[in-house]
Amino acid sequence: MATEVRPTAGIAGLHHVTAIASDARANLRFYEGVLGLRLVKQTVNFDDPGTYHLYFGDAHGSPGSILTFFPWAGALPGRAGTGMTMATAFAVPPNAIEFWMGRFADLAIDFEAPSERYGDDVLRFKDPDGLPLELIQQKGSERGTADPRAIPPLIPADAAITGFHGVSLCVAGYERSARLLTDVFGYAFVGQEGERFRFQSSGAGQSAGSYVDLLCQPDTLVRGRSGAGTVHHVAFRARDEEQQLQWREKVREFGLDVTPVLDRNYFRSIYFREPGGVLYEIATDPPGFAADEALEHLGETLKLPDWLEPRRASIEARLPALRD
Ligand code: ZN
Repeated sequence: MATEVRPTAGIAGLHHVTAIASDARANLRFYEGVLGLRLVKQTVNFDDPGTYHLYFGDAHGSPGSILTFFPWAGALPGRAGTGMTMATAFAVPPNAIEFWMGRFADLAIDFEAPSERYGDDVLRFKDPDGLPLELIQQKGSERGTADPRAIPPLIPADAAITGFHGVSLCVAGYERSARLLTDVFGYAFVGQEGERFRFQSSGAGQSAGSYVDLLCQPDTLVRGRSGAGTVHHVAFRARDEEQQLQWREKVREFGLDVTPVLDRNYFRSIYFREPGGVLYEIATDPPGFAADEALEHLGETLKLPDWLEPRRASIEARLPALRD
């Protein structure tokens, strides 16, 4: 399925979501072995090389499909709340939820009874660290089924995850969080359901991860606490470095503090906290995960950036083996 960015005035959707885990092996077993995502990159946290940075995604490591983790051994559980991501949702093909309920039941993974949201069926469940996840089955989905070349082909193509659907963010206040999405990112307000306000990127239909839901829960404001089972940040797409600099300028003009461009090896990044407290990133599509290994071998071996390569032996000695 094409995921190219249309030449529009708006951001095309999510690039990746990064969360915190407590155990690298359990994390890999769940996302690869249960959900059937592909481990597309095995590297370390560049700021803390004693910790893995694991990237899961579709067969090609496409922007809009990438969920990444810092598995900190012994990390204390966090708590989602105001200023944080409340749920990360994947898109699945029509009629796939039946398959997933059967699979979760077989594997003794708890899930809630499916519910409906904006006309779509939603299946809610959690990862081993308690990270809230959702599978959203879109009626009349334009994205179709997953690429049958997916590696590993664990899940039938008519049920496999096709990428992100979107994220649900709990924000303090609403106006400025909404205005950042509409006035700066070019998202459209889609509608309200209860305390949920949905926004859709202008690249909709082409790009996975095109939805952002803002949850306004003034009666139950509980400050979130970072830790295992919580999302660290949400990254949006920039087509290239030039477009990223344009977004950076617009975010700055909106009145937010934004970092300089940082080199993350597989993309360039800028970070800023949106007005409701959620940490945002804008990441470039290029160079992507095939920058330092062939597409058919993504994620098979530990990759390090050039500046950490001289320390490979000591870094590898400190990391737990991912597989038996
Ligand atoms: Zn990131």
